[in-house]
Amino acid sequence: MKIKIENLTKQFANHTAVCRFNAEIESGQLIALLGPSGCGKSTMLNMLSGILTPTEGSIFFADEDVTFTAPEKRGVGLVFQNYALYPHMSVLDNICFPLEIQKVPKAERTRRAIEMAKLVHVESMLERKPAQLSGGQQQRVAIARALVKKPRLLLLDEPLSNLDARLRIEMREEIRRIQQETKITTIFVTHDQEEAMSISDAILLMKDGVLQQMDQPQRLYDD
Ligand code: ADP
Ligand code: ADP
Repeated sequence: MKIKIENLTKQFANHTAVCRFNAEIESGQLIALLGPSGCGKSTMLNMLSGILTPTEGSIFFADEDVTFTAPEKRGVGLVFQNYALYPHMSVLDNICFPLEIQKVPKAERTRRAIEMAKLVHVESMLERKPAQLSGGQQQRVAIARALVKKPRLLLLDEPLSNLDARLRIEMREEIRRIQQETKITTIFVTHDQEEAMSISDAILLMKDGVLQQMDQPQRLYDD
C-alpha cells in the first residue's frame, strides 16, 4: 500500500517532536526510519499506527485519509522492541490472538496462525511459552502475530535492539526475507545506521523532529 505523509506535525506541551514531515512511500517497500534517540521516530510511528493524533498534517493510506482513523481500523501490524508477547499463552495462541479478538472461527484462525508460523520458521515451537524461546524466536512470533490479520502496513519499532550481535544480523536478514515474501509495505525504526543501510529500500533520515533526507541507502550521504 502506498503511503503519503503531508506536513505531519506533533506538538507536545512545549516541544515539537515532529515538525512538517512530508514523504511518499511506494507500495511494497521496506523503509528505515533512522535517527538518534529523541529525534521523533516513535512519535512518527505512533501517528502512523493511530496511537497518537497529529497536531497538524495528514496521513493517507492508498488514497484514503486515515489521519483520524482509529488504530484498529487502519490495517496496521505492530512489532515492538520488547516483543510484548503474552507470557502465559503458547506460541500458537499468541499468533492466533488478534484473530480471536476479531471473532474468526477457531479452525480458520488456527489454519492462518500455522501459515504465519511457517512463514517466520517457528512451526516446530507452537506449544512452547515465550519464556522457552530465544530472543530471536520471540521476535519471529511477534512478527507472525503482527502479520496474521494481513495488515496493509507493518511497523517495526527497534525490533533488533534487544538481541545480541549475532541474532541481530540473523533477524535483520529474516525481516528482509519475510518482507520480500509478503511484499507488505514496512517501516522499520532504528537508530543504527548500518542496520538501516543493510535492510532497507529507502531511508528516511530524521533529526530533531525534521526529515533531513529520504533516499536509497547507497545514496544517502552523497550530497
Ligand atoms: P525517538 O523515538 O526518536 O527516540 P520520540 O518520538 O520518542 O523520539 O521523542 C521525540 C521527542 O518528543 C523527545 O524529545 C521526547 O522527549 C518528546 N516526547 C515524546 N513523547 C512525549 C510526550 N508524550 N510528551 C512530551 N514529550 C514527548
Ligand atoms: P523510545 O525508546 O521509543 O525512544 P522512550 O523510552 O523515549 O521511547 O519513550 C517511551 C514512552 O514515553 C513513549 O510513549 C513516549 O511517547 C513517552 N515519552 C518520551 N519522552 C517523554 C516526555 N518527555 N514526556 C512524556 N512522555 C514521554
